[in-house]
Amino acid sequence: MATISGLLPEVQAFLLQDPIPMFVGGRWIEAADGGVLQTIDPGDGSPLATVAEGKAADVDKAVQAAREAFRKSGWATMPANERAVFLHRLADLVDQNRATLAQLESLDVGKPLSQAAGFDVPNVAQTLRWYADLMVRTRRSELIAVSGFEARQVRFPYGVAAFILPWNFPLLLVGWNLSPALAAGNTAVIKPAEDTPLSTLYFCKLVEQAGIPAGVVNVVPGYGHTAGKALAEHPGINRMGFTGSPEVGRLIASACGNNLVPVKLELGGKGAAVVFDDVDPAVVAQKLVAAVTLNTGQVCCTATRWLIHEKIWNPFVKIAREAMQQIKIGHGLAPSTQMGPAVSEKQRQRILGYLEKGKAQGAEFVLSGGPATVTEHPEGFYVKPCMLTGDPDNVCAREEIFGPVSFLMKFSEEEEAVELVNRSNYGLANSVWSADLKRANRVAEALVAGNSWINGHNLFPHGVPYAGCNLSGCGGGVLGPETLFDYLRPQSVVRALS
Ligand code: NAD
Repeated sequence: MATISGLLPEVQAFLLQDPIPMFVGGRWIEAADGGVLQTIDPGDGSPLATVAEGKAADVDKAVQAAREAFRKSGWATMPANERAVFLHRLADLVDQNRATLAQLESLDVGKPLSQAAGFDVPNVAQTLRWYADLMVRTRRSELIAVSGFEARQVRFPYGVAAFILPWNFPLLLVGWNLSPALAAGNTAVIKPAEDTPLSTLYFCKLVEQAGIPAGVVNVVPGYGHTAGKALAEHPGINRMGFTGSPEVGRLIASACGNNLVPVKLELGGKGAAVVFDDVDPAVVAQKLVAAVTLNTGQVCCTATRWLIHEKIWNPFVKIAREAMQQIKIGHGLAPSTQMGPAVSEKQRQRILGYLEKGKAQGAEFVLSGGPATVTEHPEGFYVKPCMLTGDPDNVCAREEIFGPVSFLMKFSEEEEAVELVNRSNYGLANSVWSADLKRANRVAEALVAGNSWINGHNLFPHGVPYAGCNLSGCGGGVLGPETLFDYLRPQSVVRALS
């Protein structure tokens, strides 16, 4: 149990369950073999909760429950406007329980409470509503004009949608992935990350309260190599949505390919920001510092490579360095915290390891970074923000560190900046900063990635597709109208007229 004070009674009661059970077929159950896993508060290193640890047998139970619910609960066949009532009710419950969900998310991931309560949790409610409403406006059946035939295309849900999710935005990603699948009438099995299953499990209480039929949503916490592998390989799933690293993405895609199950992969990134000399360096420096320290830099699409025009290099670097130094590091629940710990000691070591490798390859430290100590919580997994510069081929300029580390590069010509950005094997998100909108749009289109943002970074309005290309993913994205159609199976019905 967390040693931190100020927990809501609801959060305390939830965490005190021993273990927190999994949610399968509308029931709260322990693992078939009685196994448990321990989650840790990354802010102080103390045990946070004990959670039922699912393995292959539990995954199988969950997939069977989801299949049964798809066939018999009425969820798949109910009119979209009736399903929308359930999803709006669920969204209302997410809003009503925002404080509880945000505290759980902050404790489990280490992120500042203000970010969980101000963005992650409300975004889940917004996503549920957005897809529920889109489904209501989507035609289930469309006539197709062809001579000699009466033809139409009808759309049906696929069946069981499986999701394997990472630890950086656990609940937000449940919202982005589950909402279109449910709105379309599918049932689901979710395997949250082993480090951060708490908010997803609490969310199931709200699914229950919303009256969503048993078996429509199932959550099996567990490790990747056991529960995750079993879910990816399960022949009973009809779709897979994976968010995580490219390495694991390959394994998931192979397993799904083996069963001919369509798969959507949302993978890592090495986002760049191209900053031209016609912006106010102080304004952009503040925004990029906020971007790279958001969620302790553990954000797939954030700006980690900063390409700065040579004419504003000096003022930009000075201001960014000062802003990075002023970031208040602390426990996620401490009101003054701007940047929490890394999610785990393993992740902290990954970040520190990259700094060592970058240094060995000649990177210059503009701001030193390294381990951080928070006096009240000496056992927390804290790191300092770091700024590097040097050769664009340095490992820290090429690989995803997933920490509050920016790699700065100077450029003089537009083409040079585009070439530097497009050297990356990733293709998730980049941004362009310029007062010249013609140039900004030209560069935005020249950067090879799923997303190009102008005069902002980390922009996710509902209705704008968010996806990656190359090492950053394939199979469609999330958040767009097209995402709904990823969960609707098209079927052509054709009658011969003669
Ligand atoms: P990860 O790939 O290690 O794990 C992701 C999930 O896969 C976890 O639930 C894990 O338990 C599971 N898993 C691990 N091994 C598995 C296996 N053999 N079979 C099946 N499942 C397995 O990633 P992570 O460390 O949790 O998250 C960080 C990564 O996620 C980064 O690369 C980040 O960029 C990426 N990410 C991408 C997006 C996006 O939208 N593109 C969003 C968030 C995170």
